[in-house]
Amino acid sequence: MDLFEYQARDLFEEYGVPVLAAKVADTPEDAKQAAEALGGGTVVVKSQVKIGGRGKAGGVKLAHDPDEAAQRANEILGLDIKGHVTKRVMIAEGADIAEEYYFSILLDRANRTFLAMCSKEGGMEIEQLAVERPEALARVEVNAITGIDEAKAREIAEAAGFDAATTEKLIPVFVRLWATFQGEDASLVEVNPLVKTGAGEIIALDGKVSLDENASFRHESHESLRDLDAENPLELKAKQLDLNYVKLDGEVGIIGNGAGLVMSTLDVVAYAGENHSGVKPANFLDIGGGASAEVMANGLSVILGDEQVKSVFVNVFGGITACDAVANGIVSALEILGDSASKPLVVRLDGNAVEEGRAILAEANHPLVTVVDTMDGGADKAAELAAAN
Ligand code: GDP
Ligand code: MN
Repeated sequence: MDLFEYQARDLFEEYGVPVLAAKVADTPEDAKQAAEALGGGTVVVKSQVKIGGRGKAGGVKLAHDPDEAAQRANEILGLDIKGHVTKRVMIAEGADIAEEYYFSILLDRANRTFLAMCSKEGGMEIEQLAVERPEALARVEVNAITGIDEAKAREIAEAAGFDAATTEKLIPVFVRLWATFQGEDASLVEVNPLVKTGAGEIIALDGKVSLDENASFRHESHESLRDLDAENPLELKAKQLDLNYVKLDGEVGIIGNGAGLVMSTLDVVAYAGENHSGVKPANFLDIGGGASAEVMANGLSVILGDEQVKSVFVNVFGGITACDAVANGIVSALEILGDSASKPLVVRLDGNAVEEGRAILAEANHPLVTVVDTMDGGADKAAELAAAN
């Protein structure tokens, strides 16, 4: 999960990383009040969108007094930056910038470690610097166990070529940024620019933080950082129902048990779709081990809520969960959903108690359900029905 800059700023503050006072505003009037609350002097009005390059796009502007802050906010609210529309601005105390640096900590997947990157030349697009003058961007491996202590922080600052006095000032900031990274289970903490002010202070002026959602179980506070507006409504509903669902862009809804089976179901449906007007899978949904009526009904209701879906392929291999339980789940789910179940369902059951499962579906004889014997046959039938609808 990527955070907005203001959320990153708040986390930095919590961990003792030096930041400037700031407030968020959703209207020009709020922006004026925020600027007044910050002392009425010079502020910076910054678009809050989850994309870089806001400065260049006109999303970061100085304002010398609260009235000007309202004007600047009026210009920036609604501003589209690379497809991200600004709904909120952050009003931050103005900084007296002497120098702009770059610092980040990230997960280096290729080398199975963490990596700190640092440069005396921050502010500009770091990707460009990394390509044009890679020697100006220091890369220092960070061990997951020892992290960034004073010695490691010194190594990073020296690798980036900072003078002795600046290095001493950077050390505690790097250590605290590591504390933020580790303490919040982040996969990225990036500060660009990290500035030195005219008075020689180091301040994190911009913050980009990504949190690892696999660790959300130990961070209750992270729930409140989610941007519900921006999430896909079907994925949001699935999350609330505790379903493993990913929205895709096709017409054939997919339900299966086990991530591997569901992934291969996506493949066979995409392949079958080539013979049926190019229809594609509409989603990934793994209902896991317990295919109870409730889980099946929840899964179906999410999938049927997707307007793009024209047919649904239920592909279950009975292992610990026997096929008769799954079949009963499907029958009860259709009862629970009643008229809201309105699209054809192709069901392929195999494995544990398959005969009993098929008998239950035959007995129920639901008009929307077609029972098939094989996975390939099911994919073809579901694709055909999707193309016909
Ligand atoms: P980004 O373009 O999305 O990365 O947004 P930043 O927060 O990094 O802001 C872009 C640039 O605006 C920075 O590199 C600074 O040069 C400038 N900037 C940001 N905050 C301030 C501030 O408080 N005072 C001044 N004078 N400039 C600022
Ligand atoms: Mn920046």
